[in-house]
Amino acid sequence: MQLRIPGPTPCPEEVLRAQSRQMINHRGKDFSVIIRKVTEQLKRCFQTQNDVLILTGSGTSGLEAAVVNTLSPGDRVLGVSIGAFGDRFADIARTYGADVKKLSFDWGVPADPDAVRQALKDDAGIKAVLVTHNETSTGITNDLKPIAAVAREFDKLILVDGVSSVGSIDLPVDAWQCDVVVTGSQKGWMTPPGMAMVSMSQRAWQANEKAKMPRFYLDLGRARKIFDEKGQTPWTPGISTLYALDVGLDAIEKEGLQNVFSRHARVAKVAREGAKSLGLTLFARESHASNTVTAINVPSGVDGKKLLQILREEHQVVLSGGQAKLEGKIFRIGHLGWVAESDMNVVMAALKKALPAAKGA
Ligand SMILES: *Cc1c(COP(=O)(O)O)cnc(C)c1O
Repeated sequence: MQLRIPGPTPCPEEVLRAQSRQMINHRGKDFSVIIRKVTEQLKRCFQTQNDVLILTGSGTSGLEAAVVNTLSPGDRVLGVSIGAFGDRFADIARTYGADVKKLSFDWGVPADPDAVRQALKDDAGIKAVLVTHNETSTGITNDLKPIAAVAREFDKLILVDGVSSVGSIDLPVDAWQCDVVVTGSQKGWMTPPGMAMVSMSQRAWQANEKAKMPRFYLDLGRARKIFDEKGQTPWTPGISTLYALDVGLDAIEKEGLQNVFSRHARVAKVAREGAKSLGLTLFARESHASNTVTAINVPSGVDGKKLLQILREEHQVVLSGGQAKLEGKIFRIGHLGWVAESDMNVVMAALKKALPAAKGA
């Protein structure tokens, strides 16, 4: 079975084995040893010297934590959106009472850093910029470096959804001075769903002191305190997912972070070139095509749903459809985490057979 959706992603055998380990006391020494080790490894993958906190929850819990721990109701924020996940980030902020100003771009193109600059120039009251690094719904990687630089230029907080990029696509958190960056265990980490990982800059902690949005389960101040003092989490953590992360992170470090990034770039190229060689067209602007997910237009005359069904049932290849307004219009290949060029060759071979069959349908 080739599970090639943009999360959950396949896990290596040793990760699955780690998950089957016996439970331990989450208030004991053994747990603190594992979480401290995993946190140090995550910090290297985030390329940060600042705090990284591990929450039990999916990626969205991390996005919610980013918002409620740095903002207050009534704060004006710029919600930069190029797709479904940019919209979700803005929706979370709106739900907690932020005054969200949306800066939306067409789906399939990246955000324009100059437009972000203009928006911040036009409205001095904006406190924070919310942005997606890698927009999984459209297969676009934003130019985060210049966008973060614009946020710095205007001295705004920048909160980043890096759920499908951190650990797979280069995102040097400290070098680019990103304040809060979020990822999730089921994306590039070769581990099952269950954990969100969130980095907090010094500036983010300063904002945290004044942030009044309600929070309890996702209170990062509380998480930092008990982690620093005891190597624990405030609430019972998903211990099995932590076991998996422990092993998944070892694999990433053994391969080398830069090598992991270049493998993702190579695999993505095979996906794009393969799709084109089958006569398919890419949905995302190619200059910003993502290295973790490839979005492909459903060709005319082909039933996208039928195509995914044939791939799944006759070729054991599981791909994703389009989200929200792209449903039925595109399909997506996830290629992050435990993935190699050979996997994309398998996907392409299956697509080659399935396409004509889905056309006849
Ligand atoms: C997967 C994903 C999320 C979070 O999704 P969860 O289902 O909550 O884990 C958020 N943003 C992006 C860009 C994603 O790819």
